[in-house]
Amino acid sequence: MIWFYTVALAVLLLFNLIAMPRITENRITEVDYGTFMTMTAAGNIGKVEISTSYIVFTDKAEENIYKTGALNDPDLIQRLHESNAVFSGEIAEEASPLLSFVLSWVFPILFFIILGNILSKAFMKKAGGNNSMMFNMGKSNAKIYVKSSDGIRFSDVAGVDEAKESLKEVVDYLDNPEKYSKIGASMPKGVLLVGPPGTGKTMIAKAVAGEANVPFFSMSGSEFVEMFVGMGASKVRDLFKQAKEKAPCIIFIDEIDAIGQRRDGRLGSNDEREQTLNQLLTEMDGFEGNAGVIILAATNRPETLDPALTRPGRFDRRIPVELPDLKGREAILKVHSQKIKTDGKINYLSIARMASGASGAELANIINESALRAVRAGREAVTQPDLEESIEVVIAGYRKNNSLLTDNEKLVVAYHEMGHAIVAAKQPGSAPIQKITIVPRTSGALGYTLQAEKDNRYLLTKSEIENKISILTAGRAAEQVGVGTVTTGASNDIVEATKLARAAIMRFGMSTHFGMMALESQTNIYLGGDSVLNCSADTMAKADVLIAELIKNQFDKAVEILTANREKLDELALYLYHNETVSGKEFLEILES
Ligand code: ADP
Repeated sequence: MIWFYTVALAVLLLFNLIAMPRITENRITEVDYGTFMTMTAAGNIGKVEISTSYIVFTDKAEENIYKTGALNDPDLIQRLHESNAVFSGEIAEEASPLLSFVLSWVFPILFFIILGNILSKAFMKKAGGNNSMMFNMGKSNAKIYVKSSDGIRFSDVAGVDEAKESLKEVVDYLDNPEKYSKIGASMPKGVLLVGPPGTGKTMIAKAVAGEANVPFFSMSGSEFVEMFVGMGASKVRDLFKQAKEKAPCIIFIDEIDAIGQRRDGRLGSNDEREQTLNQLLTEMDGFEGNAGVIILAATNRPETLDPALTRPGRFDRRIPVELPDLKGREAILKVHSQKIKTDGKINYLSIARMASGASGAELANIINESALRAVRAGREAVTQPDLEESIEVVIAGYRKNNSLLTDNEKLVVAYHEMGHAIVAAKQPGSAPIQKITIVPRTSGALGYTLQAEKDNRYLLTKSEIENKISILTAGRAAEQVGVGTVTTGASNDIVEATKLARAAIMRFGMSTHFGMMALESQTNIYLGGDSVLNCSADTMAKADVLIAELIKNQFDKAVEILTANREKLDELALYLYHNETVSGKEFLEILES
């Protein structure tokens, strides 16, 4: 509103400075000096006002006002006096003081007051409350969901059965609080959903709203943090006030790490965030366990949360929502495939195998990509190849249609990929090869080899890690063995192999030199997994030597395997060069023939 009054004042001043003089001037008739002299001679002058540059005068009846320029006329005063004119100083202003006051001040002020009223009413409607915009700043803007027939249900969320079980209890409590209070059990006040991005945390919280017949307030942690210190805290207060009025109900705070970060008193810490967190802690203590308000929160950085927030009595229940396993992936694919039309012959298990490590969000994306691909091909239903191709799109990007590679480069890439595949096939326990391709993708990959694990893997043995490293180094090894040169194509393999070798030595205690000493620890496990060194620089330098040695040994092993299978390597690389894509079955047939 302040801006409105500023603009109104500016317009008012401009109006008075520029427009008003014109309006009043319009009532004055400009005449030439001759007319003035004639009127003076005829004694037809009422009042007269003389300044250095102009003369304003009226006729005898004082009905009209005239104006003329002042000339060098020494006898003028004498002649005017003789014609009985009255010398006056305020003809123009006197013209109509009341009218000019009304015109220049009262009218514009009235105009702006009316305009202001109309505008503020319009704003209020838009803001949806009975406050003007200015007073809405400290209010929570939580979205409220209530049970609806088309909302998300537990049945829409697949593959996270443990999380669903825990939350079903919450829904049951909200439906029948007496059942729990009879025994003296009280529900946890806060439930923290933790897990990597895209695993369905937000979705499962919405499903709770869909299942429970109670209001559901949803807000993201970042929405609390405002420009002004104290606003976030006041939003928290407001949110809890609303929630208590509507109890039993659920509050959902997404990305709670935005406000719930550990208060460590570091320089440059964020006052606003800390105040908001303090307010949240106070509010959570402020209501009784059985008040009927349950707070759900989601985060993918649980280790950064303030310990005060996760202590019993606040967010005391923690529900992990992890990446789905094989069964979970299959279930998620099936749930999402209900939204699309398929030809009914899809093997979801094999798709789930290929998409190892994919999150729920990625699987939903794979299904959608496959439907888009079917439309592009002019088909009416999604088929198995659509889904297989869309996994590759999600992993590696779209195919690049115009071939950018020269023939020689294509051959090198063929050798490189066959190297991975042959070394994988020749080592026991490696995941079977699903597909090898040298079609470039928009992600920058010039080709890739797809392996699909048969079952879930929770543990890796030392020799399996070594085998994985040797498969990763096999691309470069094949270039060396087959073409006699090395290229930049192995850069990504190098990064991955080093990551694995480093983890084996620094975290998994797989070197005889250090044994079970933890040289680094992982933080941020759900978001990429940064690591922190726990050892001295000297130890680190020794560990580096061991890491390099491990990779080197595995590279030598890959070279050995490929040299022993040199003929097969040449045959398969040429086959791949000509066909561009080779299925796992074809590959095994040629390798074993
Ligand atoms: P998060 O909050 O964990 O980052 P979301 O709940 O926002 O993830 O999930 C994003 C999308 O991914 C959802 O809208 C849904 O389509 C899909 N999705 C994720 N997990 C699942 C699941 N377990 N079952 C079905 N769909 C899922």
